[in-house]
Amino acid sequence: MHHFFYKNEELYCENIPLKKLAAEVGTPCYVYSHSTLQHHFNVFDGAFANVSHLTCYSVKANSNLSILRLFGSMGGGVDIVSGGELFRARKAGIPPERIVYSGVGKTVEEIDFALKEGILMFNIESTEELDAINSRAGILGCRARIALRVNPDVDPKTHPYISTGMKKSKFGIDVESALQAYEQAKNLDNIEILGVDCHIGSQLTEISPFVDALKRLRLLLDRLDAMGVSIRYLDLGGGLGIPYDQEAPPHPTDYAQAILQELKGLSCTLIFEPGRVIVGNAGILLTRVLYTKKTESKNFVIVDAGMNDLIRPSLYGSYHQIQPLQRKSTETQIVDVVGPICESGDFLARDRTLPVVASGDHLAVMSAGAYGFTMSSNYNSRPRAAEVLVKGDRYYIIRQRETWEDMVRLEEVAEFSQD
Ligand SMILES: *Cc1c(COP(=O)(O)O)cnc(C)c1O
Repeated sequence: MHHFFYKNEELYCENIPLKKLAAEVGTPCYVYSHSTLQHHFNVFDGAFANVSHLTCYSVKANSNLSILRLFGSMGGGVDIVSGGELFRARKAGIPPERIVYSGVGKTVEEIDFALKEGILMFNIESTEELDAINSRAGILGCRARIALRVNPDVDPKTHPYISTGMKKSKFGIDVESALQAYEQAKNLDNIEILGVDCHIGSQLTEISPFVDALKRLRLLLDRLDAMGVSIRYLDLGGGLGIPYDQEAPPHPTDYAQAILQELKGLSCTLIFEPGRVIVGNAGILLTRVLYTKKTESKNFVIVDAGMNDLIRPSLYGSYHQIQPLQRKSTETQIVDVVGPICESGDFLARDRTLPVVASGDHLAVMSAGAYGFTMSSNYNSRPRAAEVLVKGDRYYIIRQRETWEDMVRLEEVAEFSQD
């Protein structure tokens, strides 16, 4: 469910006609719907209303401060994967006791920052990291609250780049090694064991991998109990998918039901780290048609948004629905929608049936709210797009379009000596 819809053949976000917004803000530009963000957060969080839980939105899906602030104001916490994300979360007012920190490569600077802020817990991904965090906590005179990220070795049946819970993946610690690591953690002076964590992948469209992982975690919890390790938090990660095309991922309430079914008799506080399922369909990328071009084999629609703005089609072969802002033609054409970047991998859609469009028309690339702006870059020296949040009949620029000056701000022309 989202608040992007046609009225009199014009695409709207809530009460704002997107053509007007595109004219005023320019393109390319990301547009998010406040009602949709709020609704998605409530649906997910509400699905666990009857149990002790904390919804820690995954910052990397969309890390704009206004969006973090919104979820924080709704009682949400965050899952971070870097010091930069912690900085954002704190700036957006997320209380430290609602922050969990995942990721395989935390640096000393990042660990120190998180310890000083007093985050809820580190999700630790290796025994070397466990030692490093113990030692930094000792130096700073505090105790680090931790969970170990367990790799349950289940196939999430998603794109290999976003599968994270299989044996060959760099993430987490396998179950047997995790038991040893908990034993080790028990004896560390500056470590407080708080939980068990697991995140098996992203864009999952079935419930069974979540359930399989959970069954393995429950066995682990029993063994930890027998070892005298008490677990207060069970972090089940994120990963619930969204419909981009024809997929029919489980609804959050079905997901919740399946999870809660498996957890009968357990008294932990549950943590979830949803990203995509909350923001994915709450955002779109607006772009303008620059040219159309017909070659012997293809019809190209060349637009002003490229793989630097939205890399998902190039990186994962992802599908994004594309819709005109103004529906006028019923005549369709099979086209490649491509950007201005000098790479053949720069496309937003391939062999797509679209209404016939012309230079100057605008298009909406749908479901671009997650891993859209956050994965964007300045490749080809293209300033990053503006971000806009629509709420009812008002809109707010929540990130200005970068300028050419912004792009070179940190650069210096080296003055070499003459010898
Ligand atoms: C990326 C990530 C998430 C969020 O995944 P979604 O598929 O967007 O829900 C949650 N937890 C961790 C550790 C992640 O790396």
